[in-house]
Amino acid sequence: MRVILLGPPGAGKGTQSKKLAKRTGQLHISTGDLLRENVSLGSELGQQAKGYMDKGALVPDELVIKMIAERIAQDDAKSGFILDGFPRTIKQAESLDKLLQEHSLKINYVIYLDTSEGIIIQRLSGRLVCSQCQGNFHAKNMPPKQEMICDYCGGSLYQRSDDNPQTISKRLDVYKDDSSPLIRYYDAQGILKRIDADRDAEPVLEEIVLLLKK
Ligand SMILES: [Zn+2]
Repeated sequence: MRVILLGPPGAGKGTQSKKLAKRTGQLHISTGDLLRENVSLGSELGQQAKGYMDKGALVPDELVIKMIAERIAQDDAKSGFILDGFPRTIKQAESLDKLLQEHSLKINYVIYLDTSEGIIIQRLSGRLVCSQCQGNFHAKNMPPKQEMICDYCGGSLYQRSDDNPQTISKRLDVYKDDSSPLIRYYDAQGILKRIDADRDAEPVLEEIVLLLKK
């Protein structure tokens, strides 16, 4: 089973992907993590990516697709994977489809985590990030054991400067513009499933698990 998780910032893509991977035993591929791993290992693709990042430029789609290609060719991806953070555009979706076709594979489901703006603002504006391990916490929903200290590594927590209601609203507008063609693309293939992600993480996960069993 190969699944893509889509949704606006604050929909819980990362959380759900990790939980789903744990539950189903499938590989979780976060393109953000994949990029960081390649860079820190100094792989050939990682070195190329670093060249762009050092210049403050976006890493080109082809490079990200090559990293995904390498990753899904490994044994632990044979039974399927959950893709999180990619694709973001139709062009990326088409490149991904092409790559999978070359391996006689396809995406089975695209799960869209439908989340309302009020909930997103509430989630993101309370978000706290660790300055050392990038661990995520929430001032209300998931507070750290010690105030502003990371439970995992003891690093100090901070609030991202773009996690304020005004900026979040703007980010959501940008997301809507970028993602609606992508949603239509997968809807036309008949593989898009919408899940109400305004709820807590557990019931959302259960609904995804049920859906994938069908
Ligand atoms: Zn930490």
